[in-house]
Amino acid sequence: MADIDTAALQRSFAAVAAHGPDEVAQYFYSYLFLRYPETREMFPPGMARQRDRLVGALVRIVTQVDQLDELVPYLQDLGRDHRKFGALSAHYPAVGEALLAALAHFSGPSWTPELAAQWSAAYGLVAATMSGAAEQVAADEPAWWDAEVLEVDRRTFDIAVLRVRTDQPVPYLAGQSVSVEPTERRPREWRFYTPAVAPGGLEIELHARLLPGGPVSTALVRSVDKGDALRIGPPFGRMVLDPADRRPVVMIAGSTGLAPMKAFVDQLGRWAAESANPPRPVELFFGARSRREDYDAADLAALAGRYDWLTVTTVISDDIRWTGPRGLVGEVAVERVRDWPAHEVFVCGSPEMVATTRDLLAAAGAPPEQVHSEEFGQA
Ligand SMILES: Cc1cc2nc3c(=O)[nH]c(=O)nc-3n(C[C@H](O)[C@H](O)[C@H](O)COP(=O)(O)OP(=O)(O)OC[C@H]3O[C@@H](n4cnc5c(N)ncnc54)[C@H](O)[C@@H]3O)c2cc1C
Repeated sequence: MADIDTAALQRSFAAVAAHGPDEVAQYFYSYLFLRYPETREMFPPGMARQRDRLVGALVRIVTQVDQLDELVPYLQDLGRDHRKFGALSAHYPAVGEALLAALAHFSGPSWTPELAAQWSAAYGLVAATMSGAAEQVAADEPAWWDAEVLEVDRRTFDIAVLRVRTDQPVPYLAGQSVSVEPTERRPREWRFYTPAVAPGGLEIELHARLLPGGPVSTALVRSVDKGDALRIGPPFGRMVLDPADRRPVVMIAGSTGLAPMKAFVDQLGRWAAESANPPRPVELFFGARSRREDYDAADLAALAGRYDWLTVTTVISDDIRWTGPRGLVGEVAVERVRDWPAHEVFVCGSPEMVATTRDLLAAAGAPPEQVHSEEFGQA
């Protein structure tokens, strides 16, 4: 973005956002739907959460506008992912117009023709990157995959493990996530979930944890049933395995952050079966608040029994009846693992869990570039 004054855009966005992110998003969507009513049907019936998502994406784009190596892959993923919204790419100009109208409205007198030109150029680049990535995959990949729920195993009152079958294999890599729409229960509401099995087959295991008041997690945990239709969006995320890497692995998971770790274990198991190389040793630390939330204990024990290169440690933070390791999962991992620079590390869980664990790892001497993480927050 050579000709774009990124500092000016960041200052301008901060001033606009000071009016309240919800206000800005509300203005944006009102403008869009009044001027271009045909765009309304691409969005879910309830718009409150959608407003957060728009602002979240804008904040990420504006704050990373000078870190193109981070921003471009994110925009490409976003562009590929947005194909599931149907004709959205045809509406990029309308979206750009609504965005500039909202920025102009909240900037007041500080909105100048120069600033408008800067925003317009930046939006043009964002839209071109997104639509370019979407077009690149359009010939080979559907905008979404249709899936059917085979089984919903409600393991606790707020965690379910779902088995779903897709109409074609979804080309994700172990560790990546896919967006999921509970088509019948929550049409046009998409959230990311992470397959807990290696790719290649038609069956995918998903782990969903209910967030109070959250529409999609509530649907998946409470109401979705065997036989329900789901739609699965394209793969998303950069936390993946390098097949050539031979270093020992440490995996640290909080709650359903276990899903990508199980996909990694499955993938490493398959590679080990096909290769003459010795398998990579894996230490998996799984953290939950209480014994009740230790929702996948039987599967983890079975995996540890099957693979002699895998050890599993379950850590419970808030349950005095637990006789195993207690505390934060990251704390127990840093106590137990020696020689962090020799390991590749994967961390997944809530944004707070990931941030805390990354700090603990840094203090214990794990080089940050060897620590890969995924946050189960808003995307
Ligand atoms: C890349 C990625 C992969 C993911 N994979 C999984 C997965 O495998 N399993 C899984 O259970 N979830 C996963 N998530 C989270 C999931 O996408 C949804 O955000 C979550 O299920 C809530 O959706 P919802 O519609 O029920 O609630 P929303 O309407 O999206 O959110 C409800 C409320 O909860 C808040 N919130 C959102 N996330 C969190 C959080 N982590 N902690 C606290 N508050 C939060 C929101 O701000 C909002 O106020 C993943 C997220 C990302 C970004």
